[in-house]
Amino acid sequence: TFRAILISRDEAKRQSVDVVELSPDDLMDGNVDVTVEATTVNYKDGLAITGKSPVVRRWPMIPGVDLAGTVVRSDDPRWSPGDKVVLNGWGVGETHYGAYAGLARLKGDWLVALPERFTPRDAMAIGTAGYTAMLSVLALEQAGLSPKDGPAVVTGANGGVGSFAIALLARRGWEVLAVTGRPAEADYLKSLGASEIIERAELSEPGKPLGKERWVAGIDAVGSHTLANVLASTKYHGAVAACGLAQGMDLPASVAPFILRGVSLLGIDSVMAPLEKREAAWKRLAEDLDQSVLDAIATDIGFDDLIGAARDIVDGKIRGRVVATFDR
Ligand code: NAP
Repeated sequence: TFRAILISRDEAKRQSVDVVELSPDDLMDGNVDVTVEATTVNYKDGLAITGKSPVVRRWPMIPGVDLAGTVVRSDDPRWSPGDKVVLNGWGVGETHYGAYAGLARLKGDWLVALPERFTPRDAMAIGTAGYTAMLSVLALEQAGLSPKDGPAVVTGANGGVGSFAIALLARRGWEVLAVTGRPAEADYLKSLGASEIIERAELSEPGKPLGKERWVAGIDAVGSHTLANVLASTKYHGAVAACGLAQGMDLPASVAPFILRGVSLLGIDSVMAPLEKREAAWKRLAEDLDQSVLDAIATDIGFDDLIGAARDIVDGKIRGRVVATFDR
């Protein structure tokens, strides 16, 4: 048997979270079994555990959208016992039993080989947040942008996506402007590579359709008025990768930046991204991330701390990323 966190609902749809003891027979269908060696807490895991948003779509559910570990059983010819793998998304922790358990039963199609230079702990310090930041950087590059075109802005800077977005952009020579509601963390953000700190309030209120051109590229984890204002201050022919909704799901913007400045809005989805994109992103992460950056962003916790950390991330109290490694 192994321990797992289980979210359940009663008839009145009241949600509860328990630590339970399960056996492999309790798991859902899949052709590869993976012992979970490390996991992490994403904003989405916070929403699932607190029930703040309807992330869970099958009850009961083991939450956790990210895991790294070792294959122990496989009916998929691509994977053999002993292989180290990483999993991000695919509905795991939402519709399929997830990462907050000693064992996960998954589809071989969902797995990416763990890049050799990363331990399971390092891969989970990155997790969906870091992999999404990487997808965003790759999208900006594919849009033809480079550091010589001007600075890049990152919103939700202290969060998981934001922290990695800063580090990954800075690594490739971008001047990075970091937007945060926690300016007291300026030293941390600068250690990751931010050159300037912008107060969240400057961008989070309703603004004008077009503003002064301040940056040519953006990675936005926040949505709502913040994304609208980021677009309004994007330079001619710039682009913004939209990947989050920490402020809100709405986008109270105008078309002015698109039709008057040729600005592009690039949508980023990590959950259903095809395997080639995932492999490309993990390859670049392995090339671009220094161990010192991973260690600066990561805070290590244990299995017993996951529920508390899930509550904290929804309350905006987590800086960077929390990583849980499982003792066995
Ligand atoms: P996170 O660690 O909680 O980071 C979110 C950050 O946003 C916070 O640290 C905070 O940064 C800022 N923030 C929080 N509330 C805000 C508000 N009301 N107004 C403005 N800024 C606010 O979460 P994460 O794991 O990095 O995820 C960030 C977002 O991306 C989430 O919405 C998540 O659902 C989304 N996401 C999407 C994908 C995808 O596939 N598209 C993948 C991963 C995550 P400061 O304290 O520095 O201001």
